Amino acid sequence: MRSTYGTVEASTLDDWPISYEDLEPYYEKAEWEIGVSGGPEPPQKPPRKKPLPMPPLPDSKEHVLLGAAAKRLGLHPFHIPMLRNSVPYNGRGGCMRCRWCVGFACEVDAKNGTHNTVIPRALATGNCELRTNCVVKEVLTNGKGRATGVAYFDQHNHLREQPADVVVIAGSAVESARLLLNSRSLLFPNGIGNRYDWVGRNLQGHAYTGAMGLFNFEVFDDLGPGASIAICDYNHGNPGLVGGALLCNEFIRLPIHFAGMSPPGLPRWGNEHKDYMRKYYRRSSVVMGPVQELPVFEARVQVDPTVGDFWGIPVARLSGHRHPSDIVTAKYIADKAERWLKEAGAIRTWPRLPGSELSGGQHQAGTCRMGNDPHTSVVDRNCRVHDVENLFIADGSVHVTNGGFNPVLTIMANAYRVGEHIAQNWKSV
Ligand code: SF4
Repeated sequence: MRSTYGTVEASTLDDWPISYEDLEPYYEKAEWEIGVSGGPEPPQKPPRKKPLPMPPLPDSKEHVLLGAAAKRLGLHPFHIPMLRNSVPYNGRGGCMRCRWCVGFACEVDAKNGTHNTVIPRALATGNCELRTNCVVKEVLTNGKGRATGVAYFDQHNHLREQPADVVVIAGSAVESARLLLNSRSLLFPNGIGNRYDWVGRNLQGHAYTGAMGLFNFEVFDDLGPGASIAICDYNHGNPGLVGGALLCNEFIRLPIHFAGMSPPGLPRWGNEHKDYMRKYYRRSSVVMGPVQELPVFEARVQVDPTVGDFWGIPVARLSGHRHPSDIVTAKYIADKAERWLKEAGAIRTWPRLPGSELSGGQHQAGTCRMGNDPHTSVVDRNCRVHDVENLFIADGSVHVTNGGFNPVLTIMANAYRVGEHIAQNWKSV
């Protein structure tokens, strides 16, 4: 991003120390090991070497409508790669397109994650033990600055120590930073890996933006997963802007979700509200996208000096704001979403815009930056904490920038890369 866009005022924008080519084999591995369905068409350059393991889910009404509209606008629509079985895969069934795809477990186990793929496979080897309902308090180190294990509260809230040759943290951007900051010792008085005050900095998420459109005909078929079609035409190359976002139709919504999506000025109660619900539940479409956020040094996770959680571990304290440029980009992307919906036949559209508040809930990233310079990053290119030879981090916290995409596949691909590096090298660390 820095090589492409240069220095941006009030942002710590930088390049990743690894390339797409470094990650590409692991993207492919994650797609096949975890299970991704999608179309043959490449969403963007650079291309993948191997097709996705499963075909796309059937096209929804919105897909057909928005796809034709996108092509009329000269855009390049494609099937969204989904972590969902479109057909039986790896011993589990295909999606039956229910309404409960967001916020609920899948009734037929067609939604893919580590919980129903790699963790059961690891347990089956006999080389993995899973301890649930445990909370790590701190990473332990010896006088030479080497990690010796972790202190954790077990399921009975007893404090225990687990010795380890290698420690890998994967708690996501807020909790991984919190754990490092809470791991203090004589050698690491400000938290492990925090010699130069970079742990917890550059907290990012995504500035979600887009638009809603109302139609005078049915466009929403109320079948899961809902999200089906996307464009990447606005991820980069937007005049005067840094980065951008993909745009796609939104996931399936339950009526209660739709109740919060009324147009500006419409009451959220009473007959007018009910009429709107009845008329437009199936005559509406939402197009949204995750605007790539510029990293801000003051957007950060700290640990609270006075407030502890149930176990007395200092809680995370978040502060800061989005970069002003994110809001400008979000407005630009929302305009494009409205244009796409209007081309598809929407009779009324309105934007859905983020504010300047701190991000880092959904899609949180950035707090343990990966880099070559220990003065301006927390982990090296193999995601090893600069100061500690046997401590690694493998989650979104290492992302230098978070892309204009959902980051999960990058997190998984990088975890495979880090895991392979540790497996090949751990005896020498
Ligand atoms: S729509 Fe989602 S929850 Fe429903 S069957 Fe398909 S994958 Fe499972």
